[in-house]
Amino acid sequence: MPVKEFMQQSTWGEFTAIQFGILTFVPQPTSIDSRIFEYWWLVMETNDLDYLCDRVAALIAGANRVVVFTGAGVSTESGIPDFRSPGGIWSRFDPDDFTIDKFMRSSETRKLQWQMLREGGLLKDAEPNAAHYAIAELEKLGKLTCVITQNIDNLHQRAGNSADRVFELHGNMQWVRCMGCGNRFPMDDILRRLDREEVPDCPFCHGILKPDAVFFGEALPQETLNNAIHHSRNCDLFIVIGSTLVVYPAAYMPMYAVEAGAKLVIINLMPTPMDSRAVVVICSKAGEAMPKITEGVRKRLESRSG
Ligand code: NAD
Repeated sequence: MPVKEFMQQSTWGEFTAIQFGILTFVPQPTSIDSRIFEYWWLVMETNDLDYLCDRVAALIAGANRVVVFTGAGVSTESGIPDFRSPGGIWSRFDPDDFTIDKFMRSSETRKLQWQMLREGGLLKDAEPNAAHYAIAELEKLGKLTCVITQNIDNLHQRAGNSADRVFELHGNMQWVRCMGCGNRFPMDDILRRLDREEVPDCPFCHGILKPDAVFFGEALPQETLNNAIHHSRNCDLFIVIGSTLVVYPAAYMPMYAVEAGAKLVIINLMPTPMDSRAVVVICSKAGEAMPKITEGVRKRLESRSG
């Protein structure tokens, strides 16, 4: 049941709802003289970002295995549009052009894609932002098991996360793959050929070259997916940052985590289907929330060691 409905159906005598803005765990007596306290998840609507970030910092500091799961929203502050926000990619491009079927079938679609990539694509001049750096800092503090990302922009690695701790479910646009022989080539090398060729082909087998990002209708890289599922099922804190959680199978990861007993935190500008399962939901920019959270973690770790 959605939490707001749950609250409306419950009486104020059963629990005290404080109008703040997070889901949190609050002990409440079940009857007037009860010494047994039950715990209720409450939605508290607050705009107090500092308070919410401090709650998340406490959760990270107290957790043993923290997984961060990112979507396009973590990179919008780097100038890369997401898909579903107003002005996002779907308002400017036809989603059909991002299906593997159309890419393989239509030379016209391939031509358009290479043209777009030649003009800088979606990732042009993108640099990591404050959220990426704050996530990388969590790894340096020893509080990050891994990042599972839907992004193809390489910005987590550029911000300082170790490559072997970043699981890219949807590939990486730094690479181009031949659909014939499977060889991979650096994107920059192929882009240089676009001065003289409209649609470059494989230098070995003349097969179709495709950016090494997963298109709709295409299978995810199996080993990466297996690792992501393993870490989701074995973490004790799972933090979603900048994802609508509607693209599958990536969106199963927070479900695996919650079902295995992990606490869930969501930092996203729009509601997601998993909000009612989260202990904290922060509706603010990742680049504002994440540095506060990492700073809170650092202070807690310092006060423990000092
Ligand atoms: P999405 O577009 O469905 O959702 C992005 C979410 O992020 C939205 O709910 C939006 O409200 C939120 N958001 C936007 N800016 C934010 C910010 N600054 N702080 C916090 N939240 C913010 O994206 P998705 O869930 O990642 O799924 C779409 C697919 O698009 C994925 O498969 C991904 O591979 C691909 N994609 C990747 C990139 C990239 O690599 N940077 C860019 C666009 C799309």
